Amino acid sequence: MTAEPLGLRGRVVIVGAGVAGLTAALELAPRPVLLLSKAPLGAEGSTLWAQGGMAAALGPDDNPALHAADTIAAGAGLCDAAIVERFVRAAPTMIERLARLGMRFDRTPDGGFALGLEAAHCRRRIVHAGGDGTGRELMRALVAAARATPSIEMLEGFEARRIVVEDNSVRGLLAVGPAGPALLATDKVVVATGGIGGLYEASTNPPGSFGQGLMLAARAGAVLADLEFVQFHPTALDVAKRPMPLVSEAVRGEGAILIDEAGERFMAGTPGAELAPRDVVARAIWRKRARGGRVFLDARGAIGARFDARFPIIAAACRSGGVDPSREPIPVRPAQHYHMGGIAVDAEGRSSVAGLWACGEAACTGLHGANRLASNSLTEAAAFGAIVARSIEGARSSPPVRLRPQLAPPPADPAAIRPILSRAAGVMRDRETLSAAAATLAAMAASAGPAADPAAVAVMIVVAALRREHSVGAHSRLDFPHAPAEPRGSRLTLAKALAEAAALSPQAHARRA
Ligand SMILES: Cc1cc2nc3c(=O)[nH]c(=O)nc-3n(C[C@H](O)[C@H](O)[C@H](O)COP(=O)(O)OP(=O)(O)OC[C@H]3O[C@@H](n4cnc5c(N)ncnc54)[C@H](O)[C@@H]3O)c2cc1C
Repeated sequence: MTAEPLGLRGRVVIVGAGVAGLTAALELAPRPVLLLSKAPLGAEGSTLWAQGGMAAALGPDDNPALHAADTIAAGAGLCDAAIVERFVRAAPTMIERLARLGMRFDRTPDGGFALGLEAAHCRRRIVHAGGDGTGRELMRALVAAARATPSIEMLEGFEARRIVVEDNSVRGLLAVGPAGPALLATDKVVVATGGIGGLYEASTNPPGSFGQGLMLAARAGAVLADLEFVQFHPTALDVAKRPMPLVSEAVRGEGAILIDEAGERFMAGTPGAELAPRDVVARAIWRKRARGGRVFLDARGAIGARFDARFPIIAAACRSGGVDPSREPIPVRPAQHYHMGGIAVDAEGRSSVAGLWACGEAACTGLHGANRLASNSLTEAAAFGAIVARSIEGARSSPPVRLRPQLAPPPADPAAIRPILSRAAGVMRDRETLSAAAATLAAMAASAGPAADPAAVAVMIVVAALRREHSVGAHSRLDFPHAPAEPRGSRLTLAKALAEAAALSPQAHARRA
């Protein structure tokens, strides 16, 4: 079906209504915005599912410099130091702003923030709400505030399918809503569509998070960054359910230990033990499982009968999987959880395409480097949602252009991509599997079928992983186990990824032979 252009009289279009999109919309008020969400507001997205909390240096023994040092250490040399600095200073202010907005954080008896400890943080600095229901409370507060803000018009049930670009500048957005396609004429689009877990078989993300924002930006010609850095959470609940329920790091923060099927505490000899950075713990569990073993999180001694009260959502997930976490070890395994890579943006959240901003998990600000520090992402999404709003306020408007009617592409279905990407770009990677996946995915991305758009994102991840011939942070190569002398971030466009992948196809090999 073809969509006729619809003038928006200068309104900003925000795609995605998680913490990033909602914060950007609220911070832009009273400037009118159109907020698109493919699901009903508050019904989809990782924000809703977030458990552990939000990191910010708020404790009396803490300061932004310590938070920065932990972020940089976890990022394995690839964090952008200027972005880290900006983030750690903005984080405490952002938490106070959310509290003023109505978010009910868990408090100490004297009214201060209750601070949790998570992996690779040297201080207790994780604010949380409802025990392990931080995301739920964050969404409740943001959605209530957005609904009460007259400048925010919600388009629920609208899926963005293409960004219309001319001369490397945004001209509009093509979306499909309940009544069919809509072509929104705008020169300012914010992509805040969240993560990529729906491209993997084993993920903790909602299935609707399959990198659509990355696809929108990539097909618009934008540069994407650090795509090979995919974070695998070490402790997803090892049950058949998909997506996989998460057993938050906060459980290890409260003293739970990792044991194998023989009851041995196998992380004891590793610096940081159970609270080592996520990539380190995920690889240790991966190795155990590759040898046919099983791994459990044992919370009996450290948390025991307090488990249900401190972690009600995790306790319910364990019980629905037949495990009583207060009395039995919890079976766990790594699962795709977060994407450090994304749409390359500068310190103001601007992409390489004029008029296109990105924030939240879909963006790559350079904060996380090769491995995200636990609980930095919600705070980053809120802080950069606000930064993007300020950048848009200062941006010039381009004169209106006449858009041609556009044909909407079919709805995307990532099902065919999941086994390919999971095998090629999992916890451990190698050239042979990555090359085969790249060639297959490039052909799928060039097709007109429902797998084409998810394949476009997947082929970029695989090509980025192929290019990085060393192991650093969350990117581990079986064939290149050594660490780089001077790690650098990576940049890639869809056109370049497709060209490199096409050169790996059997036909290209035959032509060269
Ligand atoms: C189980 C779980 C637990 C987590 N726990 C924590 C934690 O404790 N602390 C922490 O810091 N981080 C945590 N994270 C990570 C964190 O939740 C996410 O990184 C963050 O919420 C991302 O926010 P976002 O606004 O970028 O995207 P999301 O919250 O994922 O929102 C994306 C939005 O985009 C919409 N959308 C997507 N595609 C389209 C499209 N084409 N058109 C229109 N709308 C679209 C979706 O419907 C949704 O509204 C957790 C993640 C998971 C999965």
